[in-house]
Amino acid sequence: MGEVFGTLFIFVAIIVIAAALFVGWVVITLLRGLGRAARAVVLGPTAAPPLIETIVCTRASCHCPNLPRARFCRRCGYQIEATKHTPLHAAATWH
Ligand SMILES: [Zn+2]
Repeated sequence: MGEVFGTLFIFVAIIVIAAALFVGWVVITLLRGLGRAARAVVLGPTAAPPLIETIVCTRASCHCPNLPRARFCRRCGYQIEATKHTPLHAAATWH
């Protein structure tokens, strides 16, 4: 009989430990969510991407935003208009 109770006790202990871990995880997740929400309320929404100056690809079918120093569109490879100062033949002969 003692062995059966010992086995049951181990089962119950495992279930209790698992439940405690789960409750702790739930509490931590909720606290993190609350902290994030509180921070969003205090500091304003931070999900908006930072405003970076971009040059839009001049190709009509692309219009992908690129960094101002980009010479070619990062999506379609089209030469961006703002690179007038870099002649195409010079760029092509760079190694
Ligand atoms: Zn493009």
